[in-house]
Amino acid sequence: MAALIVEVVYRGIFQKNLAARIARGIVLSARKSGRWGIAFGRYGDSPQRNGIPAKDFAIVADTKEELEQNMARYEPKHTDVTIVLDDTLGKGVESWAWYGLQPINKLTVAGGTVLMTSLRSFDDLLKDIHKKDEPYTLALIRAKASFSGLWVYREDHTEVRMLGALARVAPQFLTLDGVCEAIREMEWGSDLKVASARKAFDRLETRPVRITEGNPEVPYSFEMPKWWEMREGVTIPAIPVGKPKEAGKGYVPERNPYFKKYTTRTMRPVIDFDTCVKCNLCWISCPDSCFDVMPDGTFDANMEACCGCGVCEAVCPVEHCITMVNESAFDDNASQWEAWRRDKGAYKTWLVDTIGNKKVTVRSHGFRFRGQYEEELKQDLDAGGVEITAGIPGENAAHKTL
Ligand code: SF4
Ligand code: SF4
Repeated sequence: MAALIVEVVYRGIFQKNLAARIARGIVLSARKSGRWGIAFGRYGDSPQRNGIPAKDFAIVADTKEELEQNMARYEPKHTDVTIVLDDTLGKGVESWAWYGLQPINKLTVAGGTVLMTSLRSFDDLLKDIHKKDEPYTLALIRAKASFSGLWVYREDHTEVRMLGALARVAPQFLTLDGVCEAIREMEWGSDLKVASARKAFDRLETRPVRITEGNPEVPYSFEMPKWWEMREGVTIPAIPVGKPKEAGKGYVPERNPYFKKYTTRTMRPVIDFDTCVKCNLCWISCPDSCFDVMPDGTFDANMEACCGCGVCEAVCPVEHCITMVNESAFDDNASQWEAWRRDKGAYKTWLVDTIGNKKVTVRSHGFRFRGQYEEELKQDLDAGGVEITAGIPGENAAHKTL
């Protein structure tokens, strides 16, 4: 093999800068390793939206000719390494670039590697990751998903950890010394980051995945219209008016039937219907019109439409009435309101247990970035073998490696 093809699957906006830095770091590390490289984003993934899965690609080749040959394609159809920057993407990917759900390992070649940041066990992750009819390796960097915003970057060393891990996965293309040299020379480089890359190289955990392992679900797809079925002229039909939930009560809006947002979320809102005061604020504020109005006047967040932005939690005036919970806590997209109506006691127990174990402070995305940053960063860097003694790294911190 004379070329290494890498895709970087990330959450739109929240991880845009992170993915770009990793892709760029791969190219620079390739040059320091005596190889050729190029990185690019996918046209179909722009403009991005919060949380919607998106991809960057990087190609490393032995020769310029090999690189040019790979660049001749619009985008790679197969990848040797699939880098996944949020483990909830293990449930699959629905992006702007296609219709339906694609397994996270869809492009990964036989014998290739899915490289992920996660604190979960291999077996737990394989409950989400779809079965593949070819064996591959699942490789984990032990870290939480790194989220920030469009204009900010979170200096938690995820980018260099990924580069160090990649040197372990594909040493014939990226040497660890090449990666370290690139990190040191990049504008965001430092000896501390070089140490993080080396630790990721040493600590990478891998597990072979057999064809019998993984989530057996068949990913949903849509029958797309054929060109001969299309109407003459260009018309975009409006979304039709919705209908009452039941017996003339409540309201369920019509939604885009071809874009389900099951995998666009890294967190989802969980609602305590017992404490809801029916103020309408979540319904008015939701940018995706996710809320169905229930016959009793409460609001149920429809999981087909919710992208997990957290706006509803922010506007809800009742404390703990809406809580954003890690998507990894859920196995389905069923209606919370229906579960509450069936058995209010059981729902309450589920609610307390779910929020208690998976509360928002365990995971954070761009909107919840402020305030948690310093606290969480210390914990993350401790796990990576770094001690902060003051301030924020990259700014005014005094810190040292252990
Ligand atoms: S998190 Fe809340 S506001 Fe955001 S899309 Fe989902 S239901 Fe709407
Ligand atoms: S914002 Fe909170 S209290 Fe108001 S309707 Fe929505 S869930 Fe109920």
